[in-house]
Amino acid sequence: MKDSQVSQANLIGGEWAASSHSRSNINPSDTDDVIGQYSSADADTVDAAVAAARSAFPAWAAAGPQARHDLLDAVGSELLARKEEIGRFLAREEGKTVAEAIGETARAGQVFKFFAGEALRVAGDAQPSVRPDIDVEVTREPVGIVGLITPWNFPIAIPAWKVAPALAYGNCVVLKPADLTPGCAHVITELLHRHGCPPGVFNLVMGPGSTVGEAIIAHPGIDAISFTGSAGVGARIAETCGRLRKKVQVEMGGKNPMVVMDDADLDTAIQTCLNGAFFSTGQRCTASSRLIVQRGIHDAFVEALSREMTALKVGDALDTTTQIGPVVDERQLASNLDYIELARGEADAVIGGERLELEKPGFYQAPALFLGTDNGMRINREEIFGPCASVIEVADFDEALAVANDTEFGLSAGICTTNLKHANTFRRHVQAGMVMVNLPTAGVDYHVPFGGRKGSSYGAREQGRYAVEFYTTVKTSYISA
Ligand code: NAD
Repeated sequence: MKDSQVSQANLIGGEWAASSHSRSNINPSDTDDVIGQYSSADADTVDAAVAAARSAFPAWAAAGPQARHDLLDAVGSELLARKEEIGRFLAREEGKTVAEAIGETARAGQVFKFFAGEALRVAGDAQPSVRPDIDVEVTREPVGIVGLITPWNFPIAIPAWKVAPALAYGNCVVLKPADLTPGCAHVITELLHRHGCPPGVFNLVMGPGSTVGEAIIAHPGIDAISFTGSAGVGARIAETCGRLRKKVQVEMGGKNPMVVMDDADLDTAIQTCLNGAFFSTGQRCTASSRLIVQRGIHDAFVEALSREMTALKVGDALDTTTQIGPVVDERQLASNLDYIELARGEADAVIGGERLELEKPGFYQAPALFLGTDNGMRINREEIFGPCASVIEVADFDEALAVANDTEFGLSAGICTTNLKHANTFRRHVQAGMVMVNLPTAGVDYHVPFGGRKGSSYGAREQGRYAVEFYTTVKTSYISA
């Protein structure tokens, strides 16, 4: 191991616990750059983490809001103060551009500070009984020990938006980050540890989903699971948790529609689609992967979007002139290229989409636009999760809305229009958890609910004040006195 590489351990019961197995963490912009070795947990490590969490839980649940506020506020402040440095680490580990990575780090900091405030505000209510001389009080209690399982594409924001509410409302945590990006979760862990998180309240177990993730899901000492990741894994986790009677929340993929009406402002539509489809290398659950374009604007839209897309600079995430960083790893790149090959058969034409060999060895791909596609094609049914988008031409608003809703997913949806009636009718009738008018389908605030419907999400919403629904359980007390 080079001196510049780090060796990172799991955190169990307040102690750093290295294991005999570890995984190399590789920079996707430059595969010669090994960031470090990260300990791989196993089922025994998960047992130890759950035992530590269970023994810490009574004191943390009773600790009261001030201690929780102070811890979360300190972590949030440090994330914000160090957002450039941590953002550059994120860009090196995951491959999004430095600007995007700094933005994500800042968002993680804001999430911690938001939930620091929420720790002080968690409240139930008093209600009258229908019977005389009885008071009814509805209070919220922590769920217990929560297992948090996160994906690689928002490696600091997603752990933040699960860990912060979990701790704010008095739960203890076992976090398993994605195997490809343990480093950002390790940063959060270091901050919690250094700012005095009591031993066992927060535990980090890194490693593969098939072993460590499965052990968390099945563990009888874990009361609730919050998962973000792919649709197939999420559906299986929801099913298992149902069988085990565990509270569960799963956030999964999307095939998000962006409608462009004839009455749209063309520049707004182009910038909205460019950002929504290709930024963050298209590796966003909210990416605009189906561009549903009305006939009258279609040709001008395709001409301008193709021109802007092919001008995007693909390169090293740490180069500040880069607009599209690398794909996260070889497997995801191979999957993207398979879909691009499929598109060459299904679509009328494919623009871009080649694998790129740049100065450094990395997983580089030119963004791809599939033209002349039909919503029934596989490229328009399945989540690709790369910088690839399809154009689907439609005759009018009704057809656009029908095509937008014709998908098993329902995460985010958008429309570009200058017509208020189109905007409002779309907002009312589109089957999605989040709707954007003249804004990219990706790009959300940190303090309002996040999530979808249909095959994209199951369980309570994440983020904002709605997170209280998942991370607490309600108790109704009747008092006669
Ligand atoms: P993934 O499903 O492969 O993995 C997600 C996490 O689950 C990882 O930590 C992984 O190790 C773990 N895991 C895998 N198999 C498991 C199992 N059998 N039991 C328990 N845990 C297991 O997803 P990914 O490739 O890391 O992330 C990309 C996916 O995440 C995309 O589909 C994307 O749309 C989705 N995503 C959704 C949201 C959202 O909020 N809706 C946000 C970001 C990403």
